[in-house]
Order: sequence, then C-alpha cells, then structure tokens
Amino acid sequence: MHELRIAESIVKISTKEIERQHLTGIRAIGVRIGALAGVNADSLLFGFEAITVDTPLAGVKLEVEEVPVKGKCHACQKDFEIKEFIFVCPHCYSSDIEISQGQELDIAYIETD
Ligand SMILES: [Zn+2]
Repeated sequence: MHELRIAESIVKISTKEIERQHLTGIRAIGVRIGALAGVNADSLLFGFEAITVDTPLAGVKLEVEEVPVKGKCHACQKDFEIKEFIFVCPHCYSSDIEISQGQELDIAYIETD
C-alpha cells in the first residue's frame, strides 16, 4: 500500500524533527499533500495510526491539507488551477504547460501542547 510507505516516511521525518527541536507533548502533525501525489487521505490516516501504535507518536493526530494542482502556461505565461486533470491552459488552450504545484508531500507543522 502506497499510503503506508508515505505514513512511514512522515513518521521518520517528524521523529527526526522532534528530536532535533527537542519537542515534547506532540498533539498533531500537519502534512501538505498535492492532489497529484495520488494519496488517499483516509488510507494515510489509517496507516499512520496503525504504525504509530506503541511508539512515542501514538495518539498524535495527523492533519492532512490537500493542495490543489496548479500550472503555468509557457505560451501565454499565465498561472491557473488544473481541474479534473485537464492539462491544457484555460486561457489560450496550449498544452505547453508545466505543473507548478500539486506534487508536494511535506510536513507543514508539528503542534505541541
Ligand atoms: Zn496559455
């Protein structure tokens, strides 16, 4: 399961961050996930809960923020939001675009008491 691997890397990265900043009383971990990362938020939450049982992160809430996909058109230089995976510029209909946002998978914040 794709989401389980992602949950594992979230745990790994946040554990490192928690140790580095000497954080205690972790309440929640916020992650930003681009719509293109192909992650199912429910599966991710489930995976996170399953692998943090019996670890210092047990009971910590995972808060998932989904980031919409955005593109930039090389033909007319405009930025736009990509909906329903239609990779064409809505202004000039060029398909010469690049994805500027939507592939991220970041830890946004770690909330403590
Ligand atoms: Zn365009």
